[in-house]
Amino acid sequence: MEPVRLRELAGRSDRRCLNTATLGYREPVAVTAQRAAAAGFGWITPWRREIDEGRPARDAEAIRAAGLRVRSYCRTSYLAHDSEAARRQAIDDNRRALEAAAALGARELVAVVGGLADGSRDIDGSRAQILRGLEALMPAIETTGVKIALEPLHPFYAADRSLLNTIAQAQAWCETLDREGRYFGIAVDAYHVWWDPLLAPAIAGAGPRVRAFHVSDWLRHTQEPLLDRGMMGDGVVDLKRLRAMVEATGFDGPVEVEIFSRDRWWKEDPDVVLRTCRERLETVC
Ligand code: ZN
Repeated sequence: MEPVRLRELAGRSDRRCLNTATLGYREPVAVTAQRAAAAGFGWITPWRREIDEGRPARDAEAIRAAGLRVRSYCRTSYLAHDSEAARRQAIDDNRRALEAAAALGARELVAVVGGLADGSRDIDGSRAQILRGLEALMPAIETTGVKIALEPLHPFYAADRSLLNTIAQAQAWCETLDREGRYFGIAVDAYHVWWDPLLAPAIAGAGPRVRAFHVSDWLRHTQEPLLDRGMMGDGVVDLKRLRAMVEATGFDGPVEVEIFSRDRWWKEDPDVVLRTCRERLETVC
């Protein structure tokens, strides 16, 4: 292969990140990292379940040895609960996640903030608990140097997974908690926000708060919204348009593939999945 082409390829791997959920957590993170590197990804975002948080240095080394850098770390535990003890426990757990993220060299911990407190109908009260929980993590963000990227989830998940549902809401929370942008940013996940009629102005308004861009696709006839995400290009989302909106904010990080697909892609050979992701990143993202 001619040197120019090689340089081009090397450059582009920097714009590709694999979120390990895409392979269904079937193998140790060291193996996933090797496969991702071979498929042309330069970054990886692992999940807590794959990392030995007692000894994160070992996993960090395995990822480095594969030639990858850790982009983000997934994810926080939910912050609204029916008791003070449970809320405190969630904060402690998220503090440990920030520490592990720092040991891995991740730039941010992705926050899925949680839905309504158990047994509650108090949506405002639950949101207030979440904000207090995030605020309580600010000292740990300061110490670890790892920011938190707030990820709005599709409103389908408001009850059980996230009362943060739009980019505009994430931006408002960031402004409330952290006017100067030292602690919190935003993760834009195409799957969760594509439907929002106010998406373009919201992303533009978020500006430098945008810290991550996740892609998959919303299948027109999805079987269920949690584990039936589509491969980029197989669904209804105009990913090129969305990417242009995100990059217009100045975001120059990698496009992160994150596909939860229990019955389709998690059953496919991991190398085939990665090859397909790589190809679709070139053609439809
Ligand atoms: Zn995501």
